[in-house]
Amino acid sequence: MRTRAERRDGHYVVNGQKVWSSFAHIADFCILVTLSDPDAPRYQGLTYLIVDMHSPGVEVRPLRQITGEAEFNEIFFTDVEVPVENRLGEEGEGWQVAMTTLLHERGTLGFALTAVLEVSVRKLLVLAEGVEDADLRQRIAREWIELQALRFTNYRSLTTLMKTGIPGPEGSIAKLQWSLANQRLTKLARELLGHDGIVDDGWWNYQQLRSRGNTIEAGTSEVLRNIVAERVLGLPRSR
Ligand SMILES: Cc1cc2nc3c(=O)[nH]c(=O)nc-3n(C[C@H](O)[C@H](O)[C@H](O)COP(=O)(O)OP(=O)(O)OC[C@H]3O[C@@H](n4cnc5c(N)ncnc54)[C@H](O)[C@@H]3O)c2cc1C
Repeated sequence: MRTRAERRDGHYVVNGQKVWSSFAHIADFCILVTLSDPDAPRYQGLTYLIVDMHSPGVEVRPLRQITGEAEFNEIFFTDVEVPVENRLGEEGEGWQVAMTTLLHERGTLGFALTAVLEVSVRKLLVLAEGVEDADLRQRIAREWIELQALRFTNYRSLTTLMKTGIPGPEGSIAKLQWSLANQRLTKLARELLGHDGIVDDGWWNYQQLRSRGNTIEAGTSEVLRNIVAERVLGLPRSR
């Protein structure tokens, strides 16, 4: 929020830094919420810009993850000139535009995440062939059941979207449940691998390490629970 955008003639001059920008190293454009009026009341001094990543003054520095990959980055902006026509919404209305962006990110994210989870559940079932331990069998069955529940939640989400054109809060349920399921499932898979699981540095190892960030990216679980409480269950707004 401290990244500043100052209006000068037909462009904004942007200075500041953003962290956690997925795929910034290969992106041609980024969406950027800037502080355009530091004296405005909270939420009213923000302006939403679409920035050409090839502009002079844009520097992308990769961040190494626990998986060994660097799929997200820090972006530094030094006197970057952004044409006024690259502004989305009005000056000072960046908060509303950002909330709409996040609503759409979560609204449709569940479909892709569930498809990926289905691949993992199928791989888990292959790994589980011949398992007789009752507790393990229950845990494996739970993952299949949760996957079906996610699929039907996504159908509800799609119905809301088709009826209203606006994603509903179901997307937050799907993202929350998916992230928890993915962490549980990858842990279970490594347990099923037994001793091999300890030294495994293959697909399941990668999946488990990558899953750690699932409960943070695209909204932390705590924030998503707040959204579900307020918008699905109708509980009073948290402070
Ligand atoms: C793999 C990965 C990729 C990412 N990619 C992007 C990206 O491309 N673009 C981008 O903009 N961001 C990206 N992020 C950043 C991500 O969106 C934020 O890290 C996340 O939203 C949490 O915000 P924060 O880091 O500011 O933590 P904070 O908001 O400071 O939260 C810190 C802790 O406080 C809790 N908390 C905060 N507010 C509340 C509340 N109201 N009620 C209860 N608990 C609360 C949180 O749950 C968390 O545990 C990515 C993060 C990860 C891990």
